[in-house]
Formats: sequence, structure tokens, C-alpha cells
Amino acid sequence: MPTKIGIPRALSYYAYYPFWKTFFESLGHETVTSPLTTKHVLDNGIKEAVTDACVPIKLFHGHVCDLKEKSDFLFVPRFVSVCRERKVTFCPKFLGLPDMIKTSISGLPPLLDVRIDLKKGWAELFKVCVCLGKRLDNNLMEISRALNRGIKAQKRYEKLLLREFTPVEAIAMLEGNKEFVQNRDTRLKFALLGFPYTVYDKFINVDIINKLKKMGVKIFTTEMVPPKILLSQAKKVPKNLFWYFSNQVLRAALYYIDHVKVDGIIHITAFGCGPDAMVDKMIELEAKHRGPVPFMSITIDEHTGEAGLITRLEAFVDMLLLRSEMT
Ligand code: SF4
Repeated sequence: MPTKIGIPRALSYYAYYPFWKTFFESLGHETVTSPLTTKHVLDNGIKEAVTDACVPIKLFHGHVCDLKEKSDFLFVPRFVSVCRERKVTFCPKFLGLPDMIKTSISGLPPLLDVRIDLKKGWAELFKVCVCLGKRLDNNLMEISRALNRGIKAQKRYEKLLLREFTPVEAIAMLEGNKEFVQNRDTRLKFALLGFPYTVYDKFINVDIINKLKKMGVKIFTTEMVPPKILLSQAKKVPKNLFWYFSNQVLRAALYYIDHVKVDGIIHITAFGCGPDAMVDKMIELEAKHRGPVPFMSITIDEHTGEAGLITRLEAFVDMLLLRSEMT
């Protein structure tokens, strides 16, 4: 029987799932992913996580609960950094994630809680993979082959994201399940910014992407900007932020304001998120001074209601349509 590795569909899932799935499966193991977020998953997360955690962390707990009976190992890495920029790391909750999970949830299978700190160079990824492979009884040759396959899968995935597919669509396409067609008939262009786990988890953001698409809005997200272009935006702000995803979001905002001339920016923030409190204000100010580009902030938490969100989106879209008709 192959070893079953549980991969929660939350947090880093939306950024790196194709790499890890391919890596573990190339080693000969089976991967099990938790389902799309539901109210049940969220309720479990709220029950198990510390009360002052942000909703993405609560969701991660809920996804772990779903997997704990179905997996031999749970993949809960400690993401420290994935870039070479000095002093840039993931937020403290990512750093403490394996500890949080171990202390909050009982009856867990063993955790694969490797520390991922690529600031030390790409050789570090090899070391991380060796550490994981040895724990799963694989040899060095198998690990090297799986690493290469993982990198190729991740590259294919990132190319699909650049072609404006969402992670959900890109993953389905990589798995050969479905082809998606982009809607070209749009009336407005919006940058929809936020961390990948807030923008793409359609339960927690009440399916904002599809709601906007139905209103005739073309969506641009952080993941649709090539990494080199994102990095080149860093010089427009006096100082880097400390957090990796926050820098990506702010740089995407700068790019979309200056180069794509979007009609509006919507920033999805998580209630209780320290980094977001700063990024949200910075995007608002940059949108005002560089554009001005109309800006709307949407804060999500476990009580986010669909009706209120639809009203705000409709008002924002109507105002911008009116504006475009008048100019
Ligand atoms: S960056 Fe914010 S939303 Fe993301 S895990 Fe950290 S506190 Fe939560």
C-alpha cells in the first residue's frame, strides 16, 4: 500500500501544490487533498484554532481536521522564505504553523514539518527534499528524479497562471480534467489583489472572481504578473516589507496602476491580519497618488455575508461604468 500524504487545501496550497503533489507522487506515494472549503471545514477550523487567528489560519486547521483520518503523514511545512531578498520572510503564522497545528489538534498522523528557507540558495530545496524523501524511505536517486519532476510541474503551473487561469483552473488543466476558456467580453478591468489563499478560496471570499466576471469585469491578479516584472516594481517604494506575499501584492498593485491602467483595484484582506493592515493602506495611497485609480478594500472573516458583498461589488462596478461612460 502506498503511503498517503495529506496536503491541506489552504495557505501555500494555492502557490506550490503542483510541486509537492508531483514530488510525493514521483516518489511512489499517494497524495490526498482536502476538499474545497465548506462551512463544515470552516466550523472545524474555528473550533480548533486559537480564537485570535486570522481566518486563513483557521481554515488551515479545518482542512487538517478533514485529512487527519485519511492520511499516514500530513504535509505541514514551516515556510520561512522562498526568495533571496534580505529580511523577507513569510508571516509569523506561517513560521509557527506546524507548532500551532500540533498543539491545537489531537489525533494527528505524523507531520512532515520541514523548514523551507530558500534564502540560503536553491541547494536548500534539494536538502529539504532529501529530508522528506528519507523520512518516507526513498533513496537519493528517487528523490532527485522527483525533485526535477516537481520543478517541471510547478513551471507548467506558473505558466498557466501567467496566461490568466486561476489556480483552481490551472490545477484542473494540469491534471487533464478540463479545459477553460477565457471570457473576452468584458466592460471593465480590475486588479483583484490579496494573498492567493484569500483571492482563490471561493468559499471564504464568497466567490468574488465569478461574481465580478458575471458583471463583465476582467480580473487581473498578482499571480498573472511575471516574477521579473514584479521584482522590478520594488524600486518604486522606499522600503521592502518584511513579508513575502505582502511584497508581491503591493508590487502587483504598482504594476497594474502604472502599466495596465486598470479601472479599479479591489484588495481582499483578512480580518486580524497584521501585514494586511499595512499593505491595504499602502495600496490605497499608491492608487490615489499614481492614478488616481478607484480602490475598494474587502475584509473577509468567518462571518462574511454574500448579500453585503454583492451590494458593494455592484455599487463599485456601477460607479465605474458610469464614470467610463462620462469620459
Ligand atoms: S499574512 Fe495575514 S492572512 Fe496570511 S497567515 Fe499571516 S496573518 Fe494570516
